[in-house]
Amino acid sequence: MPRGAAHGDREIFWLAVDSRPVPPLLAQCGVTAPLSVEISDKPVAYLVPVEAVRLGHEVRELRRTLGDHAYIVIAAQSLNAAWIARAMALGADDVVDSASEADVLICLARTRRALERARGAYHEQAHLALERDYLQACIDNLPAPIFFKNAEGIYVGCNGAFATFIGQTADGVVGRSVFEVAPEALAARYQAADDDLLVRGGTQVYESEVCHSGGVSRHVVFHKAAMQGGDGRVRGIAGAILDITDRKMLEARLIEAAERDPLTNAYNRRKFFELAEQIVDRAENAGKTMAVAVIDVDQFKLINDRLGHAEGDNALRAIAATLENAIGPGNVIARAGGEEFYALFPENRVTEAEQIADNMRAAVERSCREMALSAVAGTVSIGLADFDPQTEDLDEALKRADDALYQAKNSGRNRICVAT
Ligand code: GH3
Ligand code: MG
Ligand code: MG
Repeated sequence: MPRGAAHGDREIFWLAVDSRPVPPLLAQCGVTAPLSVEISDKPVAYLVPVEAVRLGHEVRELRRTLGDHAYIVIAAQSLNAAWIARAMALGADDVVDSASEADVLICLARTRRALERARGAYHEQAHLALERDYLQACIDNLPAPIFFKNAEGIYVGCNGAFATFIGQTADGVVGRSVFEVAPEALAARYQAADDDLLVRGGTQVYESEVCHSGGVSRHVVFHKAAMQGGDGRVRGIAGAILDITDRKMLEARLIEAAERDPLTNAYNRRKFFELAEQIVDRAENAGKTMAVAVIDVDQFKLINDRLGHAEGDNALRAIAATLENAIGPGNVIARAGGEEFYALFPENRVTEAEQIADNMRAAVERSCREMALSAVAGTVSIGLADFDPQTEDLDEALKRADDALYQAKNSGRNRICVAT
């Protein structure tokens, strides 16, 4: 039996079940059993005389071995409806009355059209397969993890980076749901985001902290898009994951550099006013009053002069840390410049703030004594002022606190004065 069509070609198997294996028309085309005939260059038509009793077997065998590559025509004489039905049920593509030249002619035309369509479909498929291979090669060479899911949440494709990202092989991803490839809590979060995207359509971008398959926590941003079919219905999701851990770390360092004083690591003046602005707005809306303080290290110049500038820096660092530890939650302290600090007590009126400030003063005195600085200096003076955002600006309140600080210095230092 002839077999083995080239890819994309279909063969006609002309199964003749009568004693006239070569209808005259086919004979004119050059068919002589069991030789072959060319129809429009390709594919090849084969004429195979078959005994009626073996017809079912031959058709099934051809289908089994050649699948859709075979265009099977059963030729017989005196066709009736039952015979045609049986032949088609056996898996034939066509039946023809081999006694009728007109019938054979029409059948040949049908065959040619069917074969052209098959060839077109094959080339289309081959083209698509090539495009898919290019695409896959392309995404496999991208460092960013990429995946595709259908509307049921099943992965239908991914690149090597994605498989590595979740600690699987590509084969271990495709055909599975996120619940089968990721820890449950994470999977539930991804699925919820996917469900939302499938309902809303469009694109979705969100950041997430994920534990990489290597066990390292990474900061990533998901870029997902709903994929629509020709009918406008959402068919699935395409997603890419960008690792932004390095960027996040750099951002954190830049934020820290922008808001912290490099020597003491306390908030800087800029950050103080930024935080204060929010606090003051809230207090103003709520009609609340609060307290502000200006804190200055006493005779700090002496520390520098006697111990050296480097020791002065160390002392300043230690004093800043002591003040920060003693101020308590909710209150803000920042290095205003030099050896001077600003403090804001959003939840305290001046009498309560005075108590907190005195604790801060005492804590500095104690820690500097422990650091053996007290022989030189090592105390702070504090000017405190009440602050009602309804009636004055923060700058005005700080100015009154600064005046009170001046009084504290003039009254012997290491003390608190409250602005009147
Ligand atoms: P008072 O009790 O009146 O505040 O005396 P004081 O010596 O602290 O005040 P003064 O303003 O005369 O001197 C402040 C000194 O603080 C002078 C300056 O060199 C020093 N200083 C400011 N910033 C730094 C710093 O970052 N590191 C060091 N080591 N010294 C600093
Ligand atoms: Mg000073
Ligand atoms: Mg000063």
